[in-house]
Amino acid sequence: MDYTNSIEVHNLKKYYKDTKAVDGISLSIEKGKVTAILGPNGAGKTTTVETLEGLRKADSGEIYYFGEKIKEVDEKIKEKIGVQLQSSTFLSNLTVYETIKTFAGLYKKSLDVDKIIIKFNLEEKKKSKIKNLSGGEQQRVALACAVINDPEIVFLDEPTTGLDPQARRNLWTAIEELKKDGKTVVLTTHYMEEAEYLSDKIYIVDHGKIIAEGKVNELVKTINMKSVINFSVNHKSEIFSEYQKNEDGIFKTETSDIEKTLVEIYEKARKNDLTIENLSIRNPNLEDVFLHLTGRKLRD
Ligand code: ADP
Repeated sequence: MDYTNSIEVHNLKKYYKDTKAVDGISLSIEKGKVTAILGPNGAGKTTTVETLEGLRKADSGEIYYFGEKIKEVDEKIKEKIGVQLQSSTFLSNLTVYETIKTFAGLYKKSLDVDKIIIKFNLEEKKKSKIKNLSGGEQQRVALACAVINDPEIVFLDEPTTGLDPQARRNLWTAIEELKKDGKTVVLTTHYMEEAEYLSDKIYIVDHGKIIAEGKVNELVKTINMKSVINFSVNHKSEIFSEYQKNEDGIFKTETSDIEKTLVEIYEKARKNDLTIENLSIRNPNLEDVFLHLTGRKLRD
């Protein structure tokens, strides 16, 4: 069957007593793309993806996998999806090789364990026990286990939580590799930089509902926010008195035309024989989108 969306979800609901964990979520997960579900803790991300993985049962809603409506996530579907488990679920005394080999044994079809170890840059750690790995290495093992069955779809639930910036970057590279391999990736995260960097499409969720969806630039455009330019000058700062200045002598101006404003600033400096120092530009980002929509920060 031909399909553009590996998964489609219509009006998914899952309530726990008083908590509307998922409250009518609809998603289109495009084949071969990275889709991010971005939202603060408790927004309903894990409940949503675990329902798609067959680990939880929804109260209502429709799920389509590979173009067909499904009643439940059966074994046939599970063969085609990969789930990145929390590394805490691994047996800490097994080696990297043994762990990945064990996961390979769970599927009818699996990739070569040694090749996967090379692919995820774990060769040097092949014989190390899980408990002796760094957080980033453990996450790479989890990623290796998630793709050992050569799945069409890979679910990554908060893959970089708790990692240092360098380990996070390394994991992002590994996730980009999955996309290059043609995998459909479903990613949940509360890091807006991660969603911004990795995904083709973003769903922003809050309190069990989708509050915005689209590509990063589309989402940012919707809030109509200006860019902010900060700069200072080496002397004679009164020349720039039309701009706001703070107590440290740094000028600030808001603009929806960065190029035009930069030209104005540099022209003025040149005419007055001044040097512009420490110029920085801040463009609106997903954090601003979230703040605009909810009045709250993504990470409180
Ligand atoms: P996220 O992954 O975005 O942090 P979750 O899907 O884990 O959010 O949780 C959404 C909401 O549902 C939270 O308020 C959480 O406390 C609640 N919740 C999740 N799982 C359960 C459960 N098994 N029992 C009761 N409440 C739950």
